[in-house]
Amino acid sequence: MINIFPEQVFFFRCHPKIQCFNACCQDLHQILTPYDIIRLKHHFQIDSSIFLKTYTRTYIGPETGLPVVVLKTKSHMDLRCIFVSEEGCLVYPDRPASCRYYPLARLVSRSRETGKISASYMLMKEAHCMGHNDQKGFLCEQTLEKWLDSQELANDDNYNDRMLEIIAVKNQAGIKDLSADQKKLFFMCCYDIDSFQDYAVNDQLFSEKLDMHCSFDGDLQWLERALAWLKNNFLKISVLNNCHV
Ligand code: SF4
Ligand code: SF4
Repeated sequence: MINIFPEQVFFFRCHPKIQCFNACCQDLHQILTPYDIIRLKHHFQIDSSIFLKTYTRTYIGPETGLPVVVLKTKSHMDLRCIFVSEEGCLVYPDRPASCRYYPLARLVSRSRETGKISASYMLMKEAHCMGHNDQKGFLCEQTLEKWLDSQELANDDNYNDRMLEIIAVKNQAGIKDLSADQKKLFFMCCYDIDSFQDYAVNDQLFSEKLDMHCSFDGDLQWLERALAWLKNNFLKISVLNNCHV
């Protein structure tokens, strides 16, 4: 991997006729972010809990102790992405952020002093990927800005960085292991936005009048609310300890 700076030119072009087409969607461990899940549930026009049950599996991250959601593979033996087909990605317009970034990877860090999040970018050159080979013409010539624009990544980053803040607050609060109920609560706030809406309305979690949303923007508003509420509860750990789902 090599560092990529804003003005730096690199060469990359991926297209359906390339010899390695779909090679990057094999042998998969595709982590999903809260924003990815909202995008994908709207792609299928289904409830977030159904999307999660049908297309994902969850495990507890060994470093954070928090639930991590990954896309299912075709089977235990066949590690291709559940969404890959001979024609390419079946969810291409709404594919996850890390698929959009590839062959770049975005690394984020958060300053302990200021809380400011900064990002750096690496270019991955993997043996199977032939997108780096063609170095002639405008279509192959990339800069960071051109790539990010072409992949429509601005919103993804904004929401995904909020997760980093929540993990930082959890760590600052000295919370090492969440109880089973707390893990369920974290999972619901971050990933299962439709269940969070039900939970929030039934338990009158917020004092203002709340609409149930089914639009994409409406779900993003709920995600804002869920992440802020979760962060606040990590700050008030005693309150979180008394929450039951
Ligand atoms: S979501 Fe689409 S682009 Fe991403 S790994 Fe799966 S098939 Fe490939
Ligand atoms: S060029 Fe790289 S990103 Fe494109 S299909 Fe081939 S392996 Fe995947």
